[in-house]
Amino acid sequence: MSAGRFVELRDVVPRGIAGSATITSIGAGTTLAELEVDPQIPQVLREACAAAASPQLRAMGTIGGNLLQATRCWYWRLGYPCFLHGGDRCHARTGQQREHAIFGNERCASAHPSDPAAALLALGAILRTDRRELPLADLYRLPTEDDRDLTTLSTGELILELEVPAPRASVYLKAMDRRKWAFPLVGVGAARFVDGVRLGLSGVAPIPWALGGPEELDRATPLPGTAYKVEIARALVRRAVDAV
Ligand SMILES: Cc1cc2nc3c(=O)[nH]c(=O)nc-3n(C[C@H](O)[C@H](O)[C@H](O)COP(=O)(O)OP(=O)(O)OC[C@H]3O[C@@H](n4cnc5c(N)ncnc54)[C@H](O)[C@@H]3O)c2cc1C
Ligand code: SF4
Repeated sequence: MSAGRFVELRDVVPRGIAGSATITSIGAGTTLAELEVDPQIPQVLREACAAAASPQLRAMGTIGGNLLQATRCWYWRLGYPCFLHGGDRCHARTGQQREHAIFGNERCASAHPSDPAAALLALGAILRTDRRELPLADLYRLPTEDDRDLTTLSTGELILELEVPAPRASVYLKAMDRRKWAFPLVGVGAARFVDGVRLGLSGVAPIPWALGGPEELDRATPLPGTAYKVEIARALVRRAVDAV
């Protein structure tokens, strides 16, 4: 990948956290390190930030950038002409796929790498961009024949702020290959509100995945190499629901 121009966003994207009893506002330029220690931030998001990357990366990486990070799929990163790059097939579906998806993987089997996105999905966060307001869930889309994008952002559209409702209880659990500095094989965010528990998963689909309940795991469509993730997800979802 190459770029002809780098744009500095720090002066236009807000940074900082402001809370009330029911809603916390987060500037999209706030770092993961700032979020993981702030008591105004719900536990699920603090834990997801603390479980991401390394201390050095969390000190620099912003929540806005984290939500928009590119897939880790090695075929995509190596420039294979795969479906996501505009080609006609997914190389992972017939190739190396251990870290790939178990949901939404018909055309592209990549696994979304953001821990905070799963937490924010469980929280039902709202995003404000320079053009509109939208639920976090509507930031993402599965790629289609006509449009291979994984997000609904327009060219040049900036995420400015997130609004996060306060849950009664919440938790983030993450399975990874190492105990530190590893992307999620499966991450589960759970948040309990007055009307029930919401679940958001990372590492299981090309986009952060909202799970209606543990029973939806029966409808997973794993590849031969990712079947083990369904069992991990079952265990983490059970523990997360118990915890909240
Ligand atoms: C080795 C390594 C391990 C990692 N492990 C994890 C992990 O376990 N879990 C996890 O969740 N993350 C992980 N990450 C990702 C890391 O947390 C992100 O790279 C970081 O949060 C991105 O933030 P950034 O501000 O540097 O974004 P950038 O890299 O600067 O931006 C990413 C993309 O978003 C765009 N962008 C940035 N801000 C905005 C905005 N406000 N509005 C619109 N577009 C914007 C940029 O143009 C770019 O396309 C890892 C990264 C590395 C390199
Ligand atoms: S998983 Fe997606 S990114 Fe990876 S090879 Fe398949 S189409 Fe490309």
